[in-house]
Order: sequence, then structure tokens, then C-alpha cells
Amino acid sequence: MSSTMMDVPLTLDWIADRAERWFPDVEIVSRRPDKSLTRTTYARVIARAKRLARALGAAGIKRGDRVATLMWNHAEHLEAYFGIPLAGAVIHTLNLRLHPDEIAYIAMDAGDRILIVDDVLLPLYDKVVASGAKFERVLVVGSHGEHESYEAFLEAAPATRALPRLAETDELGTCYTSGTTGRPKGVVYSHRSTLLHTLVAAMPDSLSLSHADSLLPVVPMFHVNAWGLPYIAAMVGAKVVFPGCHLDPPSLLELMATERVTIAAGVPTIWIGIRDVLDAKPGHYKLVPNVRMIVGGSAAPEQLIRDFDRHGLTLIHAWGMTETSPIGTVSRLPAALEGADDATKYALRARQGRPVPFVELRVRNENGDVPADDTTSGEVHIRGPWISASYVGGHTPERWTDDGFFRTGDVARIDKHGFIKLTDRIADLIKSGGEWIASQELENALMGHPAVREAAVIGVPHPKWSERPLAAVVLKDGQLCVADELRTFLASRFPKFWVPDAFVFVETIPRTSAGKFKKTELRDTYRDWKW
Ligand code: ADP
Repeated sequence: MSSTMMDVPLTLDWIADRAERWFPDVEIVSRRPDKSLTRTTYARVIARAKRLARALGAAGIKRGDRVATLMWNHAEHLEAYFGIPLAGAVIHTLNLRLHPDEIAYIAMDAGDRILIVDDVLLPLYDKVVASGAKFERVLVVGSHGEHESYEAFLEAAPATRALPRLAETDELGTCYTSGTTGRPKGVVYSHRSTLLHTLVAAMPDSLSLSHADSLLPVVPMFHVNAWGLPYIAAMVGAKVVFPGCHLDPPSLLELMATERVTIAAGVPTIWIGIRDVLDAKPGHYKLVPNVRMIVGGSAAPEQLIRDFDRHGLTLIHAWGMTETSPIGTVSRLPAALEGADDATKYALRARQGRPVPFVELRVRNENGDVPADDTTSGEVHIRGPWISASYVGGHTPERWTDDGFFRTGDVARIDKHGFIKLTDRIADLIKSGGEWIASQELENALMGHPAVREAAVIGVPHPKWSERPLAAVVLKDGQLCVADELRTFLASRFPKFWVPDAFVFVETIPRTSAGKFKKTELRDTYRDWKW
């Protein structure tokens, strides 16, 4: 076969070599458990990643073997992000917020051979082992005690061992869905899917990363590879500021100010906390003007976008899933609407947006593709080079359509600009008297009420209507609000039967390991609610 262009495989060594060769002195900052900061560079991180790759090869790790991490966001985790795939192996980022039983299940399901773990997570590691997980070797970053030291493992790496030649279809990494709606399922990313995702996610209309940025990934590196940001940053040569285990708003804001952060990423609950601190202490943190904040994982309430604009921070709303690497859609205001009124602009920015290049997206119901009328809803289907084609073990093949789309389980409408608006997850929809109620729409509206900090709406069994909505509401500090006020507030926005019959005021809403509202737990709590 002849070709007019060179046949260069899309493999991760390409990004590693680029960062090492062209951005050697760009800083990687890590916050340590004692809150101190350590600084390294791409040159050193990649050199150490290559050592790690050689050491893994010498330790008998072969192409396709799984090597797990149980770590916070910091430079050594970045080394693993490169070193494990450069060894031809598959990086499996274990989610440290899951129950030890679940971590053990996931590690065994993936067949993880070696584990790299933070010293501060050894108590968790002990529980994971007690829950039945077995690793051939465990390498500890930091004080290793009677365990094997990660540093010693690196030092013992053979100086000259050749790294394997990678193929673009080789497996690079694996993540498990966080199990918000069911048992975690494994998704495997290839070198090719990761490289294409990295390229497209960096684009100006996607996450917009450049060499001029200082990036703060608050999203954990165990949550869909921190949305691909570590690879994107290395490709463009952006400085990275890793927050370690200190994710409270004051610690993050302090880091944003001192490290001149220009772009940060995390789930809405992180930003809600930050907004509250900024509101309480306006002007206290000297942030770079126009910090961009990528928000995804659950819906960004419109009010949050408005509030951050007030503080001079720009929220960028994106949607994705573990199965989609994760970038699927991003909400960027079309140029033609720059001059539109605020209500239109904010409503658009609060939508999940349009698909990024190479991602094909449709919204379907029983009548086929829904019209772009912003009224008819259906399930989001998605297809593309970084969308998973199956789960590890071939679970739930019915999630894929006959024509090769992935059924996301998310319900959406689509408007005349082609912007999708997620209204709910199929699993969270409330069925009342034969009609559907979208819980997320109610939540987002409630979070627009000035007294409300957070709100989650669930369906609770009802003798007459089968289910009725109940809203669990967390009020902002010092706010008083009665259910009747919220009821009136919603009644002007939704059909009457959508308005929750019960409002319960709570201190906190239970969270999943990724910081989303844990509706399964809420449903359990209010299962026997007396109407
Ligand atoms: P889990 O399904 O366990 O929560 P993921 O982290 O893969 O695991 O979450 C993907 C889901 O998160 C999506 O299917 C969607 O329901 C939700 N999600 C992600 N981004 C957004 C967003 N911007 N708005 C609303 N929901 C979102």
C-alpha cells in the first residue's frame, strides 16, 4: 500500500518527548500533605517517568499489564501518567473516595499487578487489602515504612533498557465509572483515543489550554484522568499546579492567587464552595484577571455562572462521561450572540453546549431524532474516536446502538443553536401519575434562589401518583426560607405538577466519590416518607 504522508502512530511518547524537549523548564507545582509546595519541571518529570517505565519493564511488566495508582494530584502521579503507558502498560487510576470494598473489586476486576500509593493513603490501602485486593508489588511514594519505596524502585531502574515501541491501538489507561447509578464498569482508553482527545480538548473552543496558562486541576486524577488535563497541559507546555489533598476553598484560592493560576477545572460543588468564600471576603484573594474555570461532571447552575462573572472569573461549562474520555460537549457562546441580552447569554452558557470536533451527537426518543425546538426531549447518543466501544468484560452491550452510538443515559433537549440542555439522567427522572418530571431542571432552578446553596430533587414513592418529587435543600449561611417561598418560586417556572410536594432543609447533601449529589442515598433516606 502506498501513502503520500508519513505513517506516524499517535502514541503518548510523542507528548512526553515534546514536553521534555520543548518545555523543559516549565514548572510543575505540588502541594504536599503538610501544605508545603514542591516544584519540579517537565524535564525532570518526564525523565523520571522514563525511569519508571524502564523499572516497570525490568520488574516484568509487559504490554497490556495493569499498573494501578492510589494517589492525590501531584507530580509523582503525573510521572505515573506517563511512565506506566511508556512501559507499554495500562495506568489504572483507583478512586480513593470509593469504599474499600469497591476499590478492591475494581482492582481485581482490572487485574492490577503493581500499585503505586501515597504514604498518606496507606491506611486506606490496608483496608483495600483487607477487602480482598492483591497486588504483586506495592510502591509507596513518601514514607514507605516496611513497604517498598517508590524512589528506590526508580533508582534501581536499568539505565539503558529500551522502552517498547508503542502502537496507537495499544491500551493506555483504564478508568471505572464512579458508579453513581450502578456497579462500576471499566472503560479502556487507547493511545490513539487519548492523543486525539488531547488535541481536540486543547482547542480554543474546547477547554482552551495554551503554553501561557497556569492550570489548577482540582478534578482528581482518579476521575476520568482529571478530564485529560495532565496530557493536554504537557502537550501545550502549560504550568501545572497540583493541589494534593487540600481541596477546601481557602486552600485552593490561596494557590490560585500565589501560583497565578489562569485556568482551573472541577465539579460544581467545588465552585459553589469557592463562590461562597469569595462572596464572604470580596477582594481578599488577588487572583489573575479573568481566570477560566472549567466545570463539568454535573450541571453548572446558571446562578453560579452569574456569580462568578461578578467576581471576574469565567465559568466554562462542559459535559462528558468516563465512557467519553470525557470531553463530549462544551458551551461556548456563538459569536452571533455576543450582543444578545444577559438572560439569553447566561441561559446559553448554562447549557451543556455543542459537541467538540470528531464527536457525533444526536438526541433521540421513540420517534427518532428530536427536533431542535428546545421542547422535545430524548436520550443523548454519542459516537467518536474517544468514545468507548465496550466495557471491560463486555458488560451491558445494550448501551450501544446497532449503528454504533453509545447510549449515555442522559436526557436532553436541543435548541435552535444546536446547544443541548441536559434535563436529567434517565435513572433520576421522576414518574408522577404517568408523566415525567426532570429532577435536574428543578434543582438548577432552586439553586437560582438567593437563599439556596444546594438542592437535590428525588422521586419518592407515593400511593396515588406512584412517585412525587421531594427537594432536599441546603440554605446559605444566615438565610431563612420557608417551603412556601420555594414552592411559589418554582410554580412560576414549571408546570404545577412538577413542583415538589415536600421540601426538607438539611445541613448537607450526600456526595458521590466524584462530588456529585448522591441521589441513591437520598432516595434510601426518604423511601418511607409520609405524604
Ligand atoms: P457517574 O456516571 O458514575 O457519575 P461519570 O463521572 O462518568 O460517572 O459521570 C458522567 C455523567 O455525569 C453524565 O452521564 C452526566 O449525567 C453527568 N454530567 C457530566 N457533566 C455534566 C454537565 N455538564 N451537566 C450535567 N450533567 C453532567
